[in-house]
Amino acid sequence: MSSAAARPGRVLIANRGEIAVRIARAARDVGIETVGVFSDADRECRHVRVVDRAVCIGPAPAQSSYLKPDALVHVAEATGCDAVHPGYGFLAEDADFAQQVCDAGMTWVGPTPESIRTMGHKAAARAAAMSVDVPVVPGSDSVIADVAEAIEFGNRHGYPLLLKASAGGGGKGMRIVADATDLPRTLSLARQEAAGAFGNDSMYIEKYLPRVRHVEVQLLGDADGHVVAIGDRDCSIQRRHQKVVEEAPAAVPETTRRAMSSAATRLAASVRYRNAGTVEFLVDVETGAFYFIEMNTRIQVEHPVTEEVSGVDLVAWQLRIAAGECIEELTALEARGHAIEFRVTAEDPERDFLPVPGLITEFEIPGGPGIRCDSHVTDGYRVPPYYDSLLAKLVVSGRDREQAIRRARRALAEFRVGGIANTIGFHRWLLQQPEFIEGSHTTAYLSDALSGSIETQEVPT
Ligand code: ADP
Repeated sequence: MSSAAARPGRVLIANRGEIAVRIARAARDVGIETVGVFSDADRECRHVRVVDRAVCIGPAPAQSSYLKPDALVHVAEATGCDAVHPGYGFLAEDADFAQQVCDAGMTWVGPTPESIRTMGHKAAARAAAMSVDVPVVPGSDSVIADVAEAIEFGNRHGYPLLLKASAGGGGKGMRIVADATDLPRTLSLARQEAAGAFGNDSMYIEKYLPRVRHVEVQLLGDADGHVVAIGDRDCSIQRRHQKVVEEAPAAVPETTRRAMSSAATRLAASVRYRNAGTVEFLVDVETGAFYFIEMNTRIQVEHPVTEEVSGVDLVAWQLRIAAGECIEELTALEARGHAIEFRVTAEDPERDFLPVPGLITEFEIPGGPGIRCDSHVTDGYRVPPYYDSLLAKLVVSGRDREQAIRRARRALAEFRVGGIANTIGFHRWLLQQPEFIEGSHTTAYLSDALSGSIETQEVPT
């Protein structure tokens, strides 16, 4: 194990909002100084106040600030940082930025640029998975050329199919194809959408698995080649293929859990994966079979649920691994209890979850046993319209899922956000739904319930 002297002394947090606050807290816990960055729109954001020093990096639009690699590297160098933590989103999975940080002689708190490239590229990631016998969803090995190729795929694998924009992400750029007659029109619509949203209309095609749960394995890898699975999470409560509620551990049979954990570590070890990463799978609820869908080469929004059941501070470990520490002590972990995360966002459930930035006039977070709230929001904070709409991550733990749900009801009854519409009422509603309480929901559940195809109680406002 490398000596603690190798630990970076000062880290640039190349992010904003709750994750910037989270990284600053972890850094302070392990004795590392922090430099934060902010755009003109974020002068009043809490992440600016919890770092040792903060520097403005440009105007409000992310393209002019948080997405400017040169400006970030410049600030890191000018403030004497020896490491850069990218958080999630923005440049966190940009291999060129990671390389630029390394070329400037600083440590990237994440995997190598090569790992980011391999795992960030859909076809390369699938090939890597198949090479170590990790099952993948049947799909095209490269982007599809034309409708004829898509029809051929449909004839071979059957319907429904799923079109995925190669430049998509965060659940965006996906469309389901019900049957062959639907294919030409849906492909052309999907291409138009992708061209508009990402400036790239290339598409992959996969078999759409209608009754699945999203289960993912949290990994840590170190420079000595150890890869450890810290636990799994279920993220099946999704809206438009985006996660809304996540929990740990996932409710899968022990044999499946072990097989997924082994598949995930095998895959990561095959690319000598270092630092935090997550391997995502879909689990077929009828057959119990699991399929790799992608790997995220960064810390994820939902990492706290794993922290709560494992007792491992994942962000602190990211910093320790970057400093050369070995993770062997994490191999014999046992998860305890159950944790659920609720993403509270500035979105209006009454208007199809439209983002509603604006002034927060009241912000009262819950507390008491089993409650953790990760947030950058305070009373009087104005949610800017430029970035994502996350206000807080309410993370609730209990000795089992039932206790966690009871505590979640208590916490959500206490939680007050005034001034703008938000999703607290939606989460209270979710906690009354039999499918969620039983834990029998698939990834399709929430969209079906919200569209009225499942009978539910009304979503309160
Ligand atoms: P992104 O990179 O945009 O997050 P992912 O490939 O990770 O996209 O998938 C996001 C979600 O979309 C999954 O959690 C799942 O609910 C759904 N999904 C993705 N691929 C499939 C598939 N082949 N069949 C059914 N659902 C899928």
